[in-house]
Amino acid sequence: MRIVLVGPPGAGKGTQAAFLAQNLAIPHISTGDLFRANISQGTELGLKAKSYMDAGNLVPDEVTIGMAKDRMAQADAANGFLLDGFPRNVSQAEALDDALKLDGQELDAVLDLEVPEDEVVKRIAGRRICRNDSSHVFHVAYKQPQTEGVCDICGGELYQRGDDTEETVRRRLEVYHSETEPIIDHYRAQGLVVTISALGSVSEVTERAMAALR
Ligand code: ADP
Ligand code: ADP
Ligand code: ADP
Repeated sequence: MRIVLVGPPGAGKGTQAAFLAQNLAIPHISTGDLFRANISQGTELGLKAKSYMDAGNLVPDEVTIGMAKDRMAQADAANGFLLDGFPRNVSQAEALDDALKLDGQELDAVLDLEVPEDEVVKRIAGRRICRNDSSHVFHVAYKQPQTEGVCDICGGELYQRGDDTEETVRRRLEVYHSETEPIIDHYRAQGLVVTISALGSVSEVTERAMAALR
């Protein structure tokens, strides 16, 4: 299956993607995680991305689209993938359409996670992620690690993302509404969009998502 996850920052995309990718046996591809890995490794790509991310803006398409395509071209993605955080504007969506068409492939679904803004703010304010791997995600109230400040998965140190501050979150929500939401209409025209509520427990949302994808 080839699936795109859409939803505002803090909706639970990364959290759900981890479970869905495992259930569906496809790789979870998060452009945010790829950028953060590049930043912590000090690569040129990471250097290019950092100032945009810190400000809550989108990293330019020239950088993002190439990185996403390179990841999708890896062998583990040959039979499907779950895209989390890509595409994030209409031109990225068009680039993905074109690339898939060239390979004679298409998307199976675009899963749209709906969450009220006050809940998104609470989820982001309490989010803590692992220094070793930003896909290891916790929450100070909703998903506490067994030992405070320590990642259950790998023992790494948990910290708050630099872009999870109130001011940057406000900007990221604006960017979501103005640049990312229009991709939902783009995909609706292709009959691909399924919208579910992302309220409730993590496992309730996973069940809802699996039912919607069937
Ligand atoms: P996104 O990838 O959409 O930005 P995350 O998956 O990182 O969102 O989730 C944001 C925060 O909300 C994390 O701290 C996560 O632990 C928490 N979270 C995710 N899903 C739920 C849920 N169903 N209920 C409560 N908190 C959640
Ligand atoms: P969240 O799910 O909380 O919005 P992500 O980890 O998906 O956070 O993204 C963090 C930041 O990385 C974004 O605010 C943006 O600066 C950058 N980013 C991630 N994916 C993309 C993309 N597809 N296009 C441009 N910038 C991106
Ligand atoms: P093939 O050409 O046999 O599909 P590739 O190694 O080129 O093999 O690609 C492997 C997989 O990666 C493809 O099946 C597709 O899912 C994905 N992929 C490859 N290139 C792109 C691209 N430019 N854009 C999007 N996805 C791609």
